[in-house]
Amino acid sequence: MRDDPLQTPLQFLKGVGPRKAADLEKAGLRTVEDLLVCFPRRYEDRSRFQPIASLRPGATAAILGTIISCGVASTRRPGFSLFTALVQDESGQVKVVWPNQKFLKDVLKPHQRVVLFGRTEYWGSRGLQLTAPEYEVLQDDGEGEPLHTGRIVPIYERTGSVTPNVHRTLTHRALETLTAPLPDVVPATLASRHGWPDRRTAFRQTHFPDPETAIEALNTAATAAQRRIIFEDFFVYQTGLALRRRENAAVRKPHVVRVDDALRQRVRDVLPFKLTAGQREAVREIVADMQRAWPMQRLLQGDVGSGKTVVAFLAAMVALENGFQVAVMAPTELLAEQHLHTFQRWLFGTRFRVGLLVGRQGDGARRRLTEEIAAGEVQLVIGTHALVQEAVRFRALALTVVDEQHRFGVLQRGLLAEKGLHPDVLLMTATPIPRTLALTACGDMDVSVMRDRPPGRQPVQTLVRPESRRDEIYGLIRAAVAAGRQVYVVYPIIESSEKTDLKAATTMAAHLTESVFPELTVALLHGRLKADEKEDVMARFAAGRIDVLVSTTVIEVGVDVPNATVMVVEHAERFGLAQLHQLRGRIGRGAHASTCVLLYAAPWSEESRARLTAVADSEDGFALAEQDLALRGPGDLFGTRQSGVPWLRAGDPVRDADLLGLAHDEARRLVDAGEVPPALEAHVRRVWHQQFGLVTVG
Ligand code: ADP
Ligand code: MG
Repeated sequence: MRDDPLQTPLQFLKGVGPRKAADLEKAGLRTVEDLLVCFPRRYEDRSRFQPIASLRPGATAAILGTIISCGVASTRRPGFSLFTALVQDESGQVKVVWPNQKFLKDVLKPHQRVVLFGRTEYWGSRGLQLTAPEYEVLQDDGEGEPLHTGRIVPIYERTGSVTPNVHRTLTHRALETLTAPLPDVVPATLASRHGWPDRRTAFRQTHFPDPETAIEALNTAATAAQRRIIFEDFFVYQTGLALRRRENAAVRKPHVVRVDDALRQRVRDVLPFKLTAGQREAVREIVADMQRAWPMQRLLQGDVGSGKTVVAFLAAMVALENGFQVAVMAPTELLAEQHLHTFQRWLFGTRFRVGLLVGRQGDGARRRLTEEIAAGEVQLVIGTHALVQEAVRFRALALTVVDEQHRFGVLQRGLLAEKGLHPDVLLMTATPIPRTLALTACGDMDVSVMRDRPPGRQPVQTLVRPESRRDEIYGLIRAAVAAGRQVYVVYPIIESSEKTDLKAATTMAAHLTESVFPELTVALLHGRLKADEKEDVMARFAAGRIDVLVSTTVIEVGVDVPNATVMVVEHAERFGLAQLHQLRGRIGRGAHASTCVLLYAAPWSEESRARLTAVADSEDGFALAEQDLALRGPGDLFGTRQSGVPWLRAGDPVRDADLLGLAHDEARRLVDAGEVPPALEAHVRRVWHQQFGLVTVG
């Protein structure tokens, strides 16, 4: 698609000079296509303005009028300014006020015709006013068609010098450049089944809708035109993922495992307990992948405490029994050490040796270990990211397990996969990913989900309490310890205020030891402790020799002490929803009833309240993940906020979940059937390179 008019750079549009081009580029808008795929933030029906005389307080209204007078009003408060205007239409006049926007004196002038959109309110003796409305100065831009008023008008995000007004004009010009029918990659059968218009019409109706279009439908992206563009957006990305998956399946891995009855029996012999149905199914899927000729790429999703470790262990056993090596990567040293103990316990009495590779090992020990790994004398290696960074060479690495994969960047994941010459890769996560996001972020992977839990679990009661009721909580802690149980007190450490936070945790530990629980054993655990100190504290806690463990979020992932039944989370309002759920997963692991107390510092925001209540109301990580997504939006969940989620141009995986599912299924179907049209494949490869910054699909 060399001559695709959509690829015309925006600086070739009339009215786009270097400054505007730069501002557009900053907003990710480089080509005509970028501009057209960029949806308006909302639509306004400016075919019907409200007469000023009919304005009522507390309502949102669009008015069209003429500025009678305007200027910066003086106020007595220093550093505070008001720009006010008096605006009039045939029915009456209204006062308009913009706090702290002095620059408006260079924008708004008497006699101008303006469209205002905002909230009306009563302001004491001054009567009804419009406060800080969005404004647009109407100009006769001589393009024949009224773009800015007298119709349903698209309102775009402002980007630098590109005002919504300019954006609208440019989008209109961009549409005008499209004369011939556009190349179209959406399968025609789908388009006709859903009643989608052709591509050019879809762009046109998305930006300049026909007068009879329902404004509600437009504002929820529910029109056929919008949905067609959204679908295409998802579809191109999903086709890329499906192609990548196919290319992965073309790779031949050097270490393919075989499974026979004798091996099954040997694995069963070391099995520490009877598996749940979910675990059995996950093991079945994983071992089936491992027996294939191409590398496994599987994501195992299971809520905290669902028992993912033993699933990884069984997969590891299959590789080990075949004479191959296994690497297990954990996000923290604490968790790596815990895995070491677990795996050593389970492998006790077998011929397999386990090694631990973490950042702070002495050089000598590390050199010895890496030699043993290279010689194949250590078969199972557990480590942190040191495993990726170090020059570790394996003799026959067949399986890589990445625990709590959401803690790792995509890059690290890829690097490790490269090391072992295409080992099977099993990613495990306890942050359940809503299906929609799993499809976008992991669309090239296969997914196993465990929804059940090991038997004998007690539900965790979760209380949300203000800090002022701390004494009551201390009573609860005392009672739990008197009954022989143990307690976590968790402190948030936010990077930006690490020093003060750490001090708060330290002070709290001292305060609890000296003044609150002098009769109990209290210890402090945080990320700055030396590795052996951390290990020592954890070992003593696991052995029941510490009653109350004051800790930062280093205990968040994976720590397993079934006798701990109370968790108090300080400043719970500072934690994310998924993180709170993860933390809570540390308790409720044994046979005793558990309680989680979320302490918050009043006053809390509406959002904190929603978050804490959601956690208190549900123990279902999958349901919480959906809520988290709704509260925070998709970008945050993957930490891709800064880089911008590449596959989201028009589409929103939550709002448009059905289209995302459709795009996923259709793309996989075409790729698996070998029916991807050459034009689509070429388009996808170009877009992957250009838009997502990925060099290749494969
Ligand atoms: P997670 O999925 O959060 O990593 P773990 O693998 O740490 O969960 O398992 C949580 C706890 O449940 C551990 O103590 C583990 O030994 C235990 N467990 C796992 N599977 C079973 C099972 N099938 N029967 C009994 N206990 C189990
Ligand atoms: Mg785990």
